Amino acid sequence: MGEDGNMVLEEDKVLPRLFYGGHQLPSPMGGFLMLLGVRPATTGAATVLFECSASSLRYTLSIPKSTPKERSEVKKLQQEGEDPDCPRHGAGARLVRAGNELVCKLCGVSYGRV
Ligand SMILES: [Zn+2]
Repeated sequence: MGEDGNMVLEEDKVLPRLFYGGHQLPSPMGGFLMLLGVRPATTGAATVLFECSASSLRYTLSIPKSTPKERSEVKKLQQEGEDPDCPRHGAGARLVRAGNELVCKLCGVSYGRV
């Protein structure tokens, strides 16, 4: 159970891969997880909130902050005058400005500075 009464999804490799791929996530209680929202953290990481379609329990998935490699790839594209996409969500998930940060709306992670 998380701090706000939500269930915390175990960290594994499958769920983040499905999430970044834009696929539906299976729920631990059966059914699937419906995306409710993304909450960026001040650390540059984020939390994604889901509701289980079968049990209505709410689950959170922690999204790790960007790696130095991801940040340098984004920076390189910026310097080349390109509009970078999210390194995890891939083509079509354009990073957007949020204050000084360059963030992905889908995962809430900051990948650089404007
Ligand atoms: Zn993303």
